[in-house]
Amino acid sequence: MSGKWKVAVLGATGLVGQRFLQLLENHPWFEVSALAASEQSAGKLYRDAANWLLDTPLPERFADLPVRHARPEEVEADFAFSALDSAIAGPIELAFARAGLPVVSNASAHRMDADVPLLLADVNPEHVALLPEQRRLRGFSSGFLVTNPNCSTAGLVTALKPLDAAFGVEAVSVVTLQAASGAGHPGVASMDLLDNVIPFISGEEEKLESEPRKILGQLLDAAIEPAPFTVSAQVNRVPVLDGHLESVSVKLRGKATAADLAQALSEYVSEPQRAALPTAPPRPIVVRPESNRPQTRLDRLASGGMAVVVGRIRPCPILDFRFSLLSHNTIRGAAGAAILNAEWLVKSKFLLPGARSGAKG
Ligand code: NAP
Repeated sequence: MSGKWKVAVLGATGLVGQRFLQLLENHPWFEVSALAASEQSAGKLYRDAANWLLDTPLPERFADLPVRHARPEEVEADFAFSALDSAIAGPIELAFARAGLPVVSNASAHRMDADVPLLLADVNPEHVALLPEQRRLRGFSSGFLVTNPNCSTAGLVTALKPLDAAFGVEAVSVVTLQAASGAGHPGVASMDLLDNVIPFISGEEEKLESEPRKILGQLLDAAIEPAPFTVSAQVNRVPVLDGHLESVSVKLRGKATAADLAQALSEYVSEPQRAALPTAPPRPIVVRPESNRPQTRLDRLASGGMAVVVGRIRPCPILDFRFSLLSHNTIRGAAGAAILNAEWLVKSKFLLPGARSGAKG
């Protein structure tokens, strides 16, 4: 081994799994040691199992790796990233954690479990402090579960964080325009989505209304007290490939001007920026002054897809202020967020090299 952490990617053949491989190809700390997916892919070479869809070539070093079953005994790694289908992720992720392997997951299965951090490392880094209690409650030795939020929540909650800290958020109304890749592959049939907008995504509004309250909640005695604001969400699937655009209105507890909001958003930095973690964007939020930005195609790759782009900050005649935000759903909203979470877990010493070898399971 090269001195890097060995990482498994569970669900490696899916859209988020592919994004993990793209982002991990030259990662300075993490080296992909195992790929796993469903029964239909296990036993094949990755190049034959995956329908590679990203616009950079499939990295050669992964193409000839065998795809394994998503079982801890088949995977040699220090920890695992999970991009498993949420419908089946819950018990598989638990089996890995019980076997001593930390799981840094994208799937929704454990996001709202009281003892599982719902983490965006540059929004609520302090929530990793839930992990000792999680290990105690679940009897894990070296394993644990950490999740990142739903792809739409990731953008929204990043913008809400500095606003809540500076002015107090009381209520939020959000309307989303979500990319096709948010549904995975093959996702929504092209005949359903081309030349169309679909005003429904199963379970998405519920996630947008609950996850931000946990993420911006307060850590009290090894539990999270949800933040005391309400969110009303309306979601739409639109025919763009990547990038979720969101129209947000907020009611604030304190007084502010639009310029105050722009300053709070653009100056925001957190622990990953202070620690200069490899995947941390220089600033989590980029504020654009133009009247017609952010735009999905032009802005989704800001800071390599890890920055949330905010624009059109202006007064709202019903709530206090409104703005548009854009975030890349498979980078900031999925694989990139999980990789930054893992970097923060290393920095905060919850991920330790070689920990699994000491695990009792
Ligand atoms: P996807 O393209 O449908 O990929 C799902 C992955 O799960 C595939 O690798 C698939 O393997 C694997 N899988 C399915 N059933 C399995 C089983 N029984 N055992 C082991 N592996 C199994 O989905 P995705 O968009 O990449 O999303 C992956 C996860 O991330 C989901 O939980 C999703 O909710 C979450 N997420 C997605 C986004 C996004 O923007 N797409 C954003 C945030 C979070 P096979 O190829 O072998 O079937």
